[in-house]
Amino acid sequence: MNENQLGDLSYQNMKFLNEESISKFLHCPICQKIFNNPKRLLLCGDTFCEKCLQVSGSKNKGTKRCSVCNQSYNQDHIQDDLIPKKIIEDLRVQCTRTKDCQWVGILQEHKIHIQNNECVQQTGQEKQQQE
Ligand SMILES: [Zn+2]
Ligand SMILES: [Zn+2]
Ligand SMILES: [Zn+2]
Repeated sequence: MNENQLGDLSYQNMKFLNEESISKFLHCPICQKIFNNPKRLLLCGDTFCEKCLQVSGSKNKGTKRCSVCNQSYNQDHIQDDLIPKKIIEDLRVQCTRTKDCQWVGILQEHKIHIQNNECVQQTGQEKQQQE
């Protein structure tokens, strides 16, 4: 598995809490999931995951068209959609990296949690204090 293809918001090792209550405006119209590195098309304002936009844009060669409204666009019309990105980073998630990890917090902090390798391991050992 190539994690680099997922963009800088990787939704691995976690699940969103109360995902069904999260606004549909934070869900990608292509994959129906929470935006993963949202990108907005400037001409029409529709937003997609970076990966979904790449995949849908490469389907028809030549002119790229928005999957929602069929507006044509080119690479210059793609912009980071920072507002949903920030809202998503502030959503509460639960860590699922290990079976025993009960960590709950916001997505942004989950990245730090993973980076710091704070997950409770399944080996039966208590969390290691490494400081
Ligand atoms: Zn998507
Ligand atoms: Zn559109
Ligand atoms: Zn964890």
